[in-house]
Amino acid sequence: MRKQIVAGNWKMNNDLAQTEALISDLKKYTKLSDAAIMVAPTFTNLWHAYQSLKGTNIEVIAQNMHFAKNGAYTGEISASMLKSIGVETVILGHSERREYFNETDELLAKKVDAALESGMKVIFCFGEVLADRKSGNHEKVVESQIKNALFHLQASSFFNIILAYEPVWAIGTGETASPEQAQDMHSFIRKTLSNKYGSDVAEGISILYGGSVKPNNAQEIFSKPDVDGGLIGGAALSADDFFAIVNAF
Ligand code: PGA
Repeated sequence: MRKQIVAGNWKMNNDLAQTEALISDLKKYTKLSDAAIMVAPTFTNLWHAYQSLKGTNIEVIAQNMHFAKNGAYTGEISASMLKSIGVETVILGHSERREYFNETDELLAKKVDAALESGMKVIFCFGEVLADRKSGNHEKVVESQIKNALFHLQASSFFNIILAYEPVWAIGTGETASPEQAQDMHSFIRKTLSNKYGSDVAEGISILYGGSVKPNNAQEIFSKPDVDGGLIGGAALSADDFFAIVNAF
């Protein structure tokens, strides 16, 4: 059985007081599914969130990190800094990082290496833009994102990687990929991994779907055989909605 995961990406939302309020709301809910739960607050609230959620079944994860161990990188955060406050998992390659901060597959390969070398787990995000989907190039684009950032790794590294397929046209737009489109892509991703690394890696890895997952569509999306959970943006800012999604499995 692959691990089912629902991860909330809070993006650049919530100051300290709002983070405290959301966490205290989250603590009121009971997890009714087997899904592992993760939330990714902003850097300034990570330590506080980690302390507040210690001992619960909600893991606190980071939204990004730099590839260097330390040094003159003003404004950046390293894997060892995250680890030193208890954070064990980092989201890398989110489309907003790619689009607004020029993160390329090559840069992301370095970040993935740095995270894995320091013993962290990675949620690696990728996905096509609307033009790729319209021109029928979506599989090609996704395949190259995965190959360029991950195919230098040993098979064993994939036990510390979670994939998140996030079609850019579905993020924050209210438009979701249909459950069939998500399933088709997830199955293609598994086939791509299987061709390179064999079926143990391909069948063992959790592949999350992200892009306008809401309480009213989560169940149908999660019911697809190759969809192992979701990376949730907007709906993760409400404890009600987030737990409705967690419990949609
Ligand atoms: P959304 O964001 O759920 O608001 O579409 C998803 C994401 O960016 O991971």
